[in-house]
Amino acid sequence: MSMKFNPKFLMALLGAVIIFNCKNNQPTNGKPNIVTTTTMITDLVKNIGGDKINVQGLMGSGVDPHLFKASEGDVSKLANADIIFYGGLHLEGKLVEVFEKMSRQNIKTIAVSDALDKTTLIASELFPGNYDPHIWFNIDYWIQITQYVADQLSKTDPENKLFYETNANNYIEKLEVLKKEITATIQTLPKEKRILVTAHDAFSYFGKAYDFEVVGLQGLSTATEAGVQDVQKLATFIIDKKVKAIFVESSVPKRTIEALQAAVTSKGHDVSIGGTLYSDALGNAGSMEGTYIGMFRYNVNTIVNALK
Ligand SMILES: [Zn+2]
Repeated sequence: MSMKFNPKFLMALLGAVIIFNCKNNQPTNGKPNIVTTTTMITDLVKNIGGDKINVQGLMGSGVDPHLFKASEGDVSKLANADIIFYGGLHLEGKLVEVFEKMSRQNIKTIAVSDALDKTTLIASELFPGNYDPHIWFNIDYWIQITQYVADQLSKTDPENKLFYETNANNYIEKLEVLKKEITATIQTLPKEKRILVTAHDAFSYFGKAYDFEVVGLQGLSTATEAGVQDVQKLATFIIDKKVKAIFVESSVPKRTIEALQAAVTSKGHDVSIGGTLYSDALGNAGSMEGTYIGMFRYNVNTIVNALK
């Protein structure tokens, strides 16, 4: 007897596939599902996890983590995660409640800033007990975080522990090379010219680690807008210190820095816009600035060339 085509069976099968896909929109290839927040963390986790994990980053290039809110689609990605890696220290200020909800659902919700000794961090002047969350701008911190992320992946997926550790070690070597390279580039800029004026306070760790005086027009979070007084005060500072250039940030509207430039001009002085720095988000995927290492190199070259 020949097999007869059974449409009922086919429909049932199709229905099951559709239901399965709706319930879990993550790839179901047996690999751990990792959800990350900022592009810096996404890049790091991909470097360590390679093809052994599925990585979904919530934020794209140019996205400001201080203001980012989770969409329904984001929440469903988070709900299906094995691990959520985020920055912490209130970087993702509008996601705290979502993370708390996920951790109640027994999803591993890991702040990469937990890798660091809090006593070494820069404390917030405005909010006691809080710290500056822009930790990726100290390469030594990023090295510690690389190790921490590898350890967390190994705990979740012990079978591939060696793979994660090898990748982490290789990546740490690249970060060490980056550190030497940018330190040498910065050395070419005389110390009195190392004044970095940007849209918000993202570069304090950078300044501390690599010997720059750093001033942001807005505070640690972009959620608070700069006032007219802040702009006037900073304009005077720029004139007094003979700062040649100030910088736009890719994740902050240009108008803040343009207002500052206009204030300097109105006092009869000149300051140029030295370029766009990648502060709280990397550049487009596939470009040099689309990786952490490329972003760092690009920022340092842009800063040094404009201030020379
Ligand atoms: Zn920021």
